[in-house]
Amino acid sequence: MKKVCSFCGRGEKEVRLLITGLNGFICEDCTTQAYQIVQSAIPAAGDVSAKGDDDGNFNIKKVPKPKDIKSYLDEYIIGQDEAKRFLSVAVYNHYKRLQQPKDDSGVEIEKSNIIMVGSTGTGKTLLARTIAKMLDVPFTIVDATVFTEAGYVGEDVESILSRLLQVADYNVAAAERGIVFIDEIDKIARKSDNPSITRDVSGEGVQQGLLKLLEGTIVNVPPKGGRKHPDQDYIHVDTRNILFICGGAFDGIEQKIAQRMNTHVVGYNSVQNVRKIDKSGLMQYVLPQDLKSFGLIPEIIGRLPVLTYLNPLDREALARILSEPKNSIIKQYVKLFDMDGIKLTFSDEVLSLVVDKAVEYKLGARGLRSIVESIMMDAMFEVPSKKAKTFNVTLDYARRQLDKSHLHQLEA
Ligand code: ADP
Repeated sequence: MKKVCSFCGRGEKEVRLLITGLNGFICEDCTTQAYQIVQSAIPAAGDVSAKGDDDGNFNIKKVPKPKDIKSYLDEYIIGQDEAKRFLSVAVYNHYKRLQQPKDDSGVEIEKSNIIMVGSTGTGKTLLARTIAKMLDVPFTIVDATVFTEAGYVGEDVESILSRLLQVADYNVAAAERGIVFIDEIDKIARKSDNPSITRDVSGEGVQQGLLKLLEGTIVNVPPKGGRKHPDQDYIHVDTRNILFICGGAFDGIEQKIAQRMNTHVVGYNSVQNVRKIDKSGLMQYVLPQDLKSFGLIPEIIGRLPVLTYLNPLDREALARILSEPKNSIIKQYVKLFDMDGIKLTFSDEVLSLVVDKAVEYKLGARGLRSIVESIMMDAMFEVPSKKAKTFNVTLDYARRQLDKSHLHQLEA
């Protein structure tokens, strides 16, 4: 058979590559073209992007259903079922809201900004980040502690939008559908539950500044970041459709919850009536009023209607985090070694040791990585230059490496 591309008819000499099939050939150009046709004709499997087009139009059918969002989260995050369910629904509703038909029924779906309460290192940021990755929308994390009231030293809250614009490559329409994670929202609580008498530059003032942003307003953002300057042309960003997810550890909120639950029981025999509450699981009873006792102003709480919590991570959860998630720490090291053609394995006792140390140093899930890193440092240095094609990390080896490291200085 004469070797010509069965699609464009060019001969062997006219093309750089001819791929042989059963009854014909295809050249490199036709392969590329065919690929493009396939891309446009068949939406990619698992294409669950809520990105929309450049003009801000997007299709709700493309937004995954809450159950799909939760299953996706399950692949990366261990436990925290309650938070996952709340987030999945809130995010789904949020994107539904962007699609709501303009009818005259008078019903208007309001925004479902979210607040997550849970100790540090329990997965709040990971949850928000994973959702944004799934939806493929611009996402940014900001730390509430850097904000001060406008006019004071520090960043004003509007700088959040500069960052969102940056990650959206200055595509305003995309940024306006993005997700902002505001971390450490508890750190801008006012110092007492009473409205302040003196000015509270870093607390209540910042909360006031956030209010408008959360609800929806048009903010003038200086182009390419930087400070505001009267001569600049501002970029106008509408925050109405930006989803805000706030997170905070709210250290000590359990006491507020306990107080509230106990003081509800009044009258005779109140002592007997005090319900026996499981102290370790108090977080699950968190209500908006506890956030208020903690020092968030009621207006902020009102604009964060979805309140959910994350459980502290116990030994079992830590052990699962180490190896189960799709992107788990152990899997990452196995991949690193695999790229050098080395099969890396860990003895089970090593994994228990890592968890023990994480618990001992009170570092939560955040500590797992530094502990594994200390154990693997020498091996990563030496093994690639050796001939061996396998490397098993034994308990003995792990212990020796940890003793050598300075990790114990991390001890809380
Ligand atoms: P937070 O925002 O609550 O302080 P992060 O989400 O930043 O905590 O978590 C820190 C790290 O710990 C994450 O990068 C992740 O590797 C790990 N981690 C924490 N919680 C979980 C979890 N539930 N499942 C899987 N990994 C977790």
